[in-house]
Amino acid sequence: IAASRALEFTAPEETPDDIGGLEALKRWLTLRERAFGDEAAAYGLPAPKGLALIGIPGTGKSLTAKMIGGMWQLPLLRLDVGAVFGSLVGESEERIRQALTLAETVAPCVLWVDELEKSFAVGGGGDSGTSQRVLGTLLTWMQEKTKPVFVVATANDVAALPPEMLRRGRFDEVFFLDLPTETERREILHVHLRKRRRDPGRFDTAQLARLSDGCVGAELEQAVVDAMYRAFAEDRDITTGDLAEAIGRLVPLSRSQRESIEN
Ligand code: ATP
Repeated sequence: IAASRALEFTAPEETPDDIGGLEALKRWLTLRERAFGDEAAAYGLPAPKGLALIGIPGTGKSLTAKMIGGMWQLPLLRLDVGAVFGSLVGESEERIRQALTLAETVAPCVLWVDELEKSFAVGGGGDSGTSQRVLGTLLTWMQEKTKPVFVVATANDVAALPPEMLRRGRFDEVFFLDLPTETERREILHVHLRKRRRDPGRFDTAQLARLSDGCVGAELEQAVVDAMYRAFAEDRDITTGDLAEAIGRLVPLSRSQRESIEN
């Protein structure tokens, strides 16, 4: 019961079409689309082990974790490492072991370990002895697991991660998600306009992409919604102009937020 409290089960429906940009990552995943089937095993292929996704907030790490489940038609188990920690001696290690055993029972599945650095921060606060043992349990399991549990680990800051986490052999690949390029911003805007409007082609996304330098995916989505609220209040449909204004309100804010984090 304690283990299932730390695990959240979903059957995600996200597909690569829900993500703008991140082409290399999508290509990597597409190549492994049939990786968990009997055919791949008969061909002599091992099941993929996992991916680490590292990057600033709002760049689509969580969205990618969901998309992997959706694309490969596998259940997604989100492991809340924070919920694993208990106050009794040995309780935390026991809980993570139970959660990992539960994941193996569900396999093939995707196990998403979110916000890694919060639980295992290098030099972080809390009871670091316990957090080291929980980390050790997780890493050993990742190395030795035989069941097809694909691990997706997401984190904001590579410097805060325990170095042994990224040692060769734990993950198949480490992807760094950076600020989107102009082309990527155009694609992301298109994704969010297409979700909400039947004729997304009428918006000048090339212009909007130029205006939104420095914005991440989450902010571009926020700009689309903000523009829609304003137009809705005036009982009319949105225009490229509304979107440009919403981006204009956002850009200085997102830049200053990031600068204050970086400094
Ligand atoms: P955090 O580190 O804060 O958890 P994250 O990198 O996991 O951030 P997401 O939660 O995936 O970011 O992004 C939030 C929302 O922003 C997504 O649900 C999606 O709607 C939008 N978004 C972010 N990146 C993209 C993208 N590349 N394409 C389309 N939408 C995106």
